[in-house]
Amino acid sequence: MRKGKLVAFNGSGQPLTLLEHDIPSLGEGEILVRNRYTTLCGSDLHTYCGIRQEACPSVLGHEIVGEIVEIADSHPGTDDNGEALKPGDIITWSIFSSDPQSVFAQEGIPQKGTNLFKYGHAKITKNNAFHGGLAEYCVLRRNTGVLKIPESMPLPIAATLNCAIATVAASLRMAGDLTGKNVVIFGMGLLGIACIAMCREAGASWIGAADIADDRLLHAQHFGANQRINLRQHSEEGTDVLKKQFVKKGVDVVFDMSGSPDAMELGMDILAIGGIAVWVGAVFKNRKVGIDAEKIIRNLHTIKGIHNYNFDDFKYALDFLENSWQKYPFDTVVEQEFELKEAEQAFEYAISHKPLRVGIRI
Ligand SMILES: [Zn+2]
Repeated sequence: MRKGKLVAFNGSGQPLTLLEHDIPSLGEGEILVRNRYTTLCGSDLHTYCGIRQEACPSVLGHEIVGEIVEIADSHPGTDDNGEALKPGDIITWSIFSSDPQSVFAQEGIPQKGTNLFKYGHAKITKNNAFHGGLAEYCVLRRNTGVLKIPESMPLPIAATLNCAIATVAASLRMAGDLTGKNVVIFGMGLLGIACIAMCREAGASWIGAADIADDRLLHAQHFGANQRINLRQHSEEGTDVLKKQFVKKGVDVVFDMSGSPDAMELGMDILAIGGIAVWVGAVFKNRKVGIDAEKIIRNLHTIKGIHNYNFDDFKYALDFLENSWQKYPFDTVVEQEFELKEAEQAFEYAISHKPLRVGIRI
């Protein structure tokens, strides 16, 4: 039987262990992938630090690109764009698989469908160990979205597609048509900066970038932000000045990628009449957000939440990245690279230096 290496996460505070495991033969509709590159996402760091509880031992890492090794005969043999797949192709895949016939999947929310399986979050079992990015291989299950990556796209850039970039694509879908719109984005992690570039490409006329860190705000400017808003220095007068520069005395759309209740509350304050708030970042426990119902009603505000993405968002993310990775400095996103056996150093570096991403070259 073939074997491959994987890095097991044994719980927060426990050392990661490099193991060798049997690679199972493929089941119905499955694809065997040789992982080539994984970037550590914020939720990987949350799990590693114990902020988020997952079953263990598990294989972390879900922002992955890899090379097809084998495709089960029962797989349709094409990706989500209808392109033929063959061994050697570089692909990425949706972070989840779920039953396409389930009620939620039928309503365009497959990320909440029944029999949901999420890569980089599952427990290692005897027959099923290769389902995360911190491993040499990954077995793609039936009903997983697959996209072929153009050969010209660097692996560290392509790796971020199936979580960060696709989630941003879903956020833009929530916001609707952005042509000529004024937008403020809170939180200048990878989601925030990618959101700036995607809003720019979608025709937004003005984009404000808000964060508490100056270096992140500076970086955001290179992705197309018109104005930097440092939330540490922000005041009520600052909010008034910001709003007054727009004809509608507020912005059309706010995106929250930060998860900070303060940021979400400020976002509601700067929305113009008819504005939409899209909340994405608050995927961890925090205090409740203060909502002024009267203001929401009188100002015709809409608040939308989005978690993960659907297959249309996934394809939109690839189109966006294909057209834009050379237009914006996406090559600056991975600030440090490690090997698979250095996974623990990669986590420690990510936690202490807070780069947008660290990369694992496999
Ligand atoms: Zn993620």
